[in-house]
Amino acid sequence: MPVRRPTFFSRPLPGLDASDKHRRRVTLLLLFGSSIVIALGLGWGTYYLLKAKWVLLAMDAALASVGMAALACTLTNRTRLAALLSAHALLVVISLICYFDVPDVGVPRSAHMHLLTLAAASFLLFRRENTYLRVVLPLICFAVALFYAGSDFGVTNPDYIPPPEAREISVWINNASCFFTIAMVLVIMQADVTARNAIEDDMRTALAQGHFTLHYQPQVREDGHGHGQVIGAEALLRWDHPQRGMILPGKFISLAEETGLIVPIGDWVLRKACTQLAEWAGHPRTAALTLSVNVSASQFRQPDFVPQVLDIVQRSGIDPSRLKLELTESLLVKDMDEVVRKMAELRARGLALSLDDFGTGYSSLNYLKRLPIDQLKIDQSFVRDLLNDPNDMAIVRTLVSLGQSLNLMLIAEGVETAEQLAWLRENGCPAYQGFLFSKPLPIDLFEKLVATPPTMPVAQGPRPRPAAGKPVVV
Ligand code: C2E
Ligand code: MG
Ligand code: MG
Repeated sequence: MPVRRPTFFSRPLPGLDASDKHRRRVTLLLLFGSSIVIALGLGWGTYYLLKAKWVLLAMDAALASVGMAALACTLTNRTRLAALLSAHALLVVISLICYFDVPDVGVPRSAHMHLLTLAAASFLLFRRENTYLRVVLPLICFAVALFYAGSDFGVTNPDYIPPPEAREISVWINNASCFFTIAMVLVIMQADVTARNAIEDDMRTALAQGHFTLHYQPQVREDGHGHGQVIGAEALLRWDHPQRGMILPGKFISLAEETGLIVPIGDWVLRKACTQLAEWAGHPRTAALTLSVNVSASQFRQPDFVPQVLDIVQRSGIDPSRLKLELTESLLVKDMDEVVRKMAELRARGLALSLDDFGTGYSSLNYLKRLPIDQLKIDQSFVRDLLNDPNDMAIVRTLVSLGQSLNLMLIAEGVETAEQLAWLRENGCPAYQGFLFSKPLPIDLFEKLVATPPTMPVAQGPRPRPAAGKPVVV
């Protein structure tokens, strides 16, 4: 199947670059917000310096410092740090400023408006973070703002209260800058929702019109005579977009998970994989191959996941042991008993289970011994620097001996060089997947590759990486 590359003129799809655009908008918000904070801090600081109001000057100097630190972090791409720092430091500094901005009959309090802006911005910046950052922090900002808005709590010594003429101007400045920043937050939220809806619609269309496809990456084992034997494949989802060309799952899987579309997409993947296995079963060369399918945690957690899978397997008439479900450790974060029960049920019906990206997540020996799995997949992040990083070497050795002692099959993913392969072979890992053998291929190319099994490449010093689809033969 020809891969259509996106051209410069192809129509941009709204939404697919949503996360990049969101990141750009958030960076803009942080730049704008920190510039306003700096301007307010320096402007009022200078004014109080001239008036010799040292306490008020100290607070504005603190305000400007927070703004400068946030600006520096944003400009050096540490946006999360900028957001964390400004949210907490501004909450403290603005609350203090509110204490000095005491309302009187002529001029109301206005500094607390900045806390509302802070609440809205925190809600936007931290919406994928933990409950404290996502909910508690905006609520604290909101509560403090509410308290100051409804009371005249504050300093009583008139020496510390800003002069009335300054307070009159600050009402306008504070309100204007807050309204503008809140409007900016709303625009970003609206743009995010629009982009998300667009990509969701597009995924539905892709599903209905058959734009999803599977690519197959061979899994190889040494056959004992120096030859590589393709023992199976991993089915990897691709979105063959009419305008954008082939899109990798990294661009859309997380949104599919968030929107729940991963359930029908995962269902399609399973059906397609089972159809493929049924076809392979009819040919001696492919009959013994296994096919691994990735299953998202949210997909696995569906109450009817197990009956659904069993139904698909049964209808396709395949040998269930040829289908291998790849699960990740993220699945094990909650409701472990239920997860183990479902896994045991699938395994009892003959399906094979593999733990993908092993070592990157919540690895604990305690859970591992409870899990009914057949295979451990050593994550590519450990294989990548294996030969240069003694820590990675030690980790892979440990994972191999762990797999061996638990009697699990082992496979290393992301094997790219003959040197990595040699090291893995010497250290007891018997099966491999990676660009060294082949990139994920459309079905016709994969079947051609199975027909000409690769010779196991041997390490001979530095060698160029193989081109897609061409198995290395030494
Ligand atoms: P994964 O399951 O860990 O798949 C391995 C990924 O590593 C694949 O990326 C594969 O192309 C890539 N890879 C394989 N060998 C090498 C190598 O030697 N070097 C390097 N640098 N990369 C290598 P891909 O296809 O982009 O998939 C990324 C992830 O998307 C997968 O990681 C899997 O978590 C997810 N995914 C793919 N298909 C599906 C699917 O059907 N359903 C679900 N839920 N997730 C899927
Ligand atoms: Mg996988
Ligand atoms: Mg993996």
